[in-house]
Amino acid sequence: MTVTRFAPSPTGFLHVGNLRTALFNYLIARKQGGQFILRLDDTDPERSTQEYADGIQEDLEWLGLTWDRMERQSDRLDRYNAAADELRAAGRFYECFETPVELDLKRKKQLNMGKPPVYDRAALSLSEAEKDALRAERSGHWRFKLDQERIEWTDGILGDLSIDAASVSDPVLIRGDGQFLYTLASVCDDVDFGITHVVRGSDHVTNTATQIQIIEALGGTVPAFAHHSLLTGPQGEALSKRLGTLALRDLRAQGIEPMALLSLMARLGANEPVELRSSMEELIEGFDLSQFGSAPTKFDVADLGPMTAKAVAALPYGEMEQTLADLGVPADIAPAFWEVARENVATRAGIADWWALCRDGAEPLVDAEDADFVATAKDLLPAQPWDGDSWKSWTTAVKEATGRKGRGLFMPLRKALTGMEHGPDMSKLMPLLQKHRL
Ligand code: GLU
Repeated sequence: MTVTRFAPSPTGFLHVGNLRTALFNYLIARKQGGQFILRLDDTDPERSTQEYADGIQEDLEWLGLTWDRMERQSDRLDRYNAAADELRAAGRFYECFETPVELDLKRKKQLNMGKPPVYDRAALSLSEAEKDALRAERSGHWRFKLDQERIEWTDGILGDLSIDAASVSDPVLIRGDGQFLYTLASVCDDVDFGITHVVRGSDHVTNTATQIQIIEALGGTVPAFAHHSLLTGPQGEALSKRLGTLALRDLRAQGIEPMALLSLMARLGANEPVELRSSMEELIEGFDLSQFGSAPTKFDVADLGPMTAKAVAALPYGEMEQTLADLGVPADIAPAFWEVARENVATRAGIADWWALCRDGAEPLVDAEDADFVATAKDLLPAQPWDGDSWKSWTTAVKEATGRKGRGLFMPLRKALTGMEHGPDMSKLMPLLQKHRL
């Protein structure tokens, strides 16, 4: 069975970059009838908070990305301890004592000599007596000893990849203060939860190489890996610093529709055009990881506006019935009101404005040069209630009385009744106006 996971750290709110990872993993699992796991990577107790953990779940729920199981790494520390023991027993784990300053110095020296800044494994040659002496003054951290060979895999997006383990530092898996680092925890979880596919950002490619060796050292099955490109801004500029301003909860507060966001994210960076989908089933159906390329993916938050307007316009009446009733739209005119409003709002919130206009009428907008014309038109306005012919008969009468036609006839009347220059077909809107203020 296909099992995927989305593994955010609850150290911040989800943003559009995280969403891409979540969505890909979700869609793969659902397309295969598999399982999708939400895993909270909360091994860092200082930075992880319950508020963020709750926020992540709320955001995924808002989008309809349901998970079959949730796990927290902080619940699994015993397991990570056991894995560390296993790696120690297998001779793949070694204790190091360099301080961050010492490591930094080593890196600078290597770079000055034109060498890659790879950890030199100096700790491997420490004697027991030297280690004891060091332990007396500081606590050691633990590194995984990579086999220095080429690590190869066929990436679901990037194709055949090969990384020389000798070009990578042995990863630190346990910090000096005893905290397990993501790499060890993630590998244990992927093995234990039977993860079959891991999709994540291309910033994880080197991690994947080292994780493959750790998984093998623990006797686990290596999942299929795929690394999607990172998002950039519309001009190709790095988005990493701006991602904080692209939090999913902010987009939600701005009225962005889930389907607009999901449809865009499920296609951005693929060889296929972005199309608004009307349901999760359609998104699942149309998703194909092999359509994605390695080039950075441009993301323009402005694209979400028009997509949202389209998504609102596409909402079936049945889905809006309760919202309209809550706004106070009488049931007998609600379907007709929805037909008019749906095409004329940027977000769902705009529906209330249209209803306020229909219920109360609008403050007329009358240009000085149209004052006499509008006064004449007012006298010719048929009595309410209006129907589908009211606009036609009114404008015909006004035309006869004033000689005006075309835009000069229609626009001042639209502005007088709606207070706006743009809006729905007036013959459809007039029957919905419960009052006017002309
Ligand atoms: N917590 C990690 C991150 O957010 C998970 C990476 C992974 O998918 O393994 O980067």
